[in-house]
Amino acid sequence: MDKRGKKIIYLSQCLLNQNLRFPGIAVESGAIAELLIPIIKNGIGIEPLPCLERLGWGGVKRKTFFKYFPMISKNTGSPKFPIIKLFLRLWLKKFKNLCKKETKKIILQMQDYNNSGYTILGIITTNDSPTCGYTKTINFLGIISKFKELGIKDEFENPTLEKMKNIIPSLCENGSGYFMSEITKLIKRSELEVDVIGFNVWNNLSEETQRVLGKLNLST
Ligand code: SF4
Repeated sequence: MDKRGKKIIYLSQCLLNQNLRFPGIAVESGAIAELLIPIIKNGIGIEPLPCLERLGWGGVKRKTFFKYFPMISKNTGSPKFPIIKLFLRLWLKKFKNLCKKETKKIILQMQDYNNSGYTILGIITTNDSPTCGYTKTINFLGIISKFKELGIKDEFENPTLEKMKNIIPSLCENGSGYFMSEITKLIKRSELEVDVIGFNVWNNLSEETQRVLGKLNLST
């Protein structure tokens, strides 16, 4: 016997560390304190869901994205675009495979907790991401094809919070990102009972924390 509370919550890693966010969209200098402090005070153990964009998009700086983005954006709608799109699809397939691989590891971890008498209270995930979004996501391939129509020019080449705080929410649509789709699919298949809740970082952070933790019956 020891002090462990046997209650666990999974969080998108960038909720613990905004330095992992795509360049230009960190809304805090470090953790989202509004969300983390009440979780810690409730005596709940935190497990991070790994930032797969860091792993699959070229690190914290998303070097792979920024290497190819100017060429992609320049050629949107050009005769070369179908070929570029084909390469994008192949790259996305590789990224989706990474999501599948990481999801399997997480499900094993969750089953271990579950079989050992721990309660997994839920997953709180960043709800604006092509990877981790749960009810809101960005259709990466879809928006790249529509950049001209959406009036987006160089905003993604030199992203700043001022520009991105308007652009990102406007690009979000209903649905789950690549990683979260896999996680929810495998949770269902494995018969684990784990709630998933999207945290909308563009909302007022205190109000959003109350809404999200309220769903898990946790005090703020
Ligand atoms: S939303 Fe997911 S992929 Fe994006 S920065 Fe956060 S942890 Fe990484």
